[in-house]
Amino acid sequence: MQKRKNLFGIDSFRIIAALLVVAIHTSPLQSFSADADFFLTRVLARIAVPFFFMVTGHFILPDAVSGGGVPTERIGNYLKKIFLYYGAAVLIYLPIGDYAGLYEGLSLTGMIRMLLVDGTFYHLWYFPALITGVLIVCLLSRFLKTKGIFAVCGVLYIIGLFGDSYFGLIKEVPVLSNLYEFGFRISSYTRNGLFYAPLFLVLGAAAAKRTSRIRFSYALVGFLLSFCVMTAEAFTLHIFDLQRHDSMYLALVLVMFFLYELILLKNQTAYPACRNTATLIYILHPAFIVVVRGAAKVLHMAPLLVDNSLIHYLAVAFSSAAAAFVITMITAFLQKKYPGLAKSSRSGAKASSAFPRGRAWIELDQKALQQNVISLRELLPEDCKLMPAVKANAYGHGLLPVSKKLNEYGVDAFCVASASEGAALRKGGIKGEILVLGYTHSEDFPLLCRYSLIQTVLDYTYALRLNGYGKKIHVHIGIDTGMHRLGERSENVDRICRIYKMKNLVIDGLYTHLCVSDSKKPQDVEYTKLQADRFYEAVRELEKRGFSCPNLHLQSSYGIFYYPDLAESYARVGIALYGVLSTKEDTLEWKEKLLPVLSLKARIAAVKDLYAGESAGYGMQFTADCDMQIAALSIGYADGLPRSLSNGKSFCLINGCRAPIIGRICMDQTLVDVSGIPEVHTGDTAVFIGKSGKLTVSACDLAEWTGTITNEILSRMGERLERIMM
Ligand SMILES: *Cc1c(COP(=O)(O)O)cnc(C)c1O
Repeated sequence: MQKRKNLFGIDSFRIIAALLVVAIHTSPLQSFSADADFFLTRVLARIAVPFFFMVTGHFILPDAVSGGGVPTERIGNYLKKIFLYYGAAVLIYLPIGDYAGLYEGLSLTGMIRMLLVDGTFYHLWYFPALITGVLIVCLLSRFLKTKGIFAVCGVLYIIGLFGDSYFGLIKEVPVLSNLYEFGFRISSYTRNGLFYAPLFLVLGAAAAKRTSRIRFSYALVGFLLSFCVMTAEAFTLHIFDLQRHDSMYLALVLVMFFLYELILLKNQTAYPACRNTATLIYILHPAFIVVVRGAAKVLHMAPLLVDNSLIHYLAVAFSSAAAAFVITMITAFLQKKYPGLAKSSRSGAKASSAFPRGRAWIELDQKALQQNVISLRELLPEDCKLMPAVKANAYGHGLLPVSKKLNEYGVDAFCVASASEGAALRKGGIKGEILVLGYTHSEDFPLLCRYSLIQTVLDYTYALRLNGYGKKIHVHIGIDTGMHRLGERSENVDRICRIYKMKNLVIDGLYTHLCVSDSKKPQDVEYTKLQADRFYEAVRELEKRGFSCPNLHLQSSYGIFYYPDLAESYARVGIALYGVLSTKEDTLEWKEKLLPVLSLKARIAAVKDLYAGESAGYGMQFTADCDMQIAALSIGYADGLPRSLSNGKSFCLINGCRAPIIGRICMDQTLVDVSGIPEVHTGDTAVFIGKSGKLTVSACDLAEWTGTITNEILSRMGERLERIMM
């Protein structure tokens, strides 16, 4: 196990980095000591921007250093976002830059250069540099392996050094200095997207890809040592007056390597608010320099607010941080209140951000879900409502993500197994009728009222208890017509009448459950008809005695397919809604119209050799008979992968090939044979349910191999799997 020390995680460090950038532009210690200020702003604070580049590399470019080719869509989305930020920043600074005379007498080429290279305000160089850097790294990754990419970026960085902190060394060499002077006409500094950004981007990408971390003590010592070296380097260059600019040091690369390692050692908690706040501080702080100076002038407080550099810094830092925080909170509030505002971008962002991180996860295909709703509705008469069974976490798919989508598709009736599932639906904002199919303890009766749930009357005795609660409870009476599970027996019409008379029960419906409606065997068909007859007989008898029966329902998924005549007020559709059938044997023309909603995927945590004669896994159940390559996947039986699939009874798909399970499935890990599968890398994805290349594994397949039905496989999908609506 890695040690987890309590240092700053990536998200919280962003704020520190942003405040360091503010320091660079305000020189907090200038009033006290020029050397101290040089140390703070030209040495220490120089870690800030490389950190931001590394974070981008970490989350956007890990594939660039793994030879896997970068996913163009992710890069495209990211660059789009950066363009937007940059565009907004350009607009914000237009008036200030204009006031400062930055754009006076600017030629067209000057303007283009400003937009594409230097940035339209002094700190905005960062955005064009980020875009250029990302594009360069992507380009390099097409032609080079990791070492090659590092070599090229390293050389670029060294070229950059001589145009930055080490410029004094080459100034005396005419050929070189002419070359650099020519370059400066294109980009004012070498601290740009070509020479500076790429190395830190690939350092971040490599940090994300590396599966082993160095020990905390080594990282700390490494950081302190390299930081001392960098300080010495900076002061030497400064004293000998060699610096043309002071962003790039040789030791900075090492400093960043160790610093990032330290940051990664902390258990990463995501603070999305920090991300936006840090970016906003970065973008806004120069405007607040203007604001603070303006305020100082108006209030006649210049001696305090401006002349004292530390207070000046604090004022700028505080006001820009406060503004950034308020803007972040307001946007978060608006997004919550009007989820439609950012829906498409948000779900997209969520999907892509889950990819680099998840250990094992479920992808939900919302188009498939919607299509299934449409297809099922076509099968039912118009006055029969879909009442999806979203019990057991929506058959493992995720109670809320699925139910919210269903609400969007106009579904307004649900059934669940327990009152707590019903309460969870309401807390998640789900609208419509919610029927609890199973037992609710009398202590939970308040939930029924508080969350407007409809309770099933399990039998006459249970009705007495419900009535005894003393408050009005809406119910559907369960009628047992032959399954002999829940419900009052259909022939006990007297008792059912007494239930009707209970003064606290509001009878909204009557239903029965069919126990062999999934079978077409003659005796089963016969039995189903008998069940239906008993149900309708009871209904008729009740009506004869003056008790009306408002809503009836009998069908579940298979009832809809095989007994369309039994459609009444509701159809309690479960498994079919999720686009699968319970078993493979069920041949229905309908199969084609149902699209599977769920895919189950897991991360490849490690790829390794297993030599002939060696064993793998608990109990050493698998022994290699020749040298082979195996992969450890981050998924186990605790995630719902049945342990009985151990020892080759199942396989997953990697790069469109089958990778058989070897040895015993563990609680959190599974080993597979990847010998002969090309390009298998740590961090790649293995598919347990779903498509990869031309191959597909269905939940039905897993059920068959396990000797169970799809319903069980799906509903046992683990709690800790992340569910992503695609
Ligand atoms: C689970 C359940 C359903 C849904 O069954 P499927 O076969 O998955 O469609 C319907 N009715 C009752 C009473 C249930 O318990």
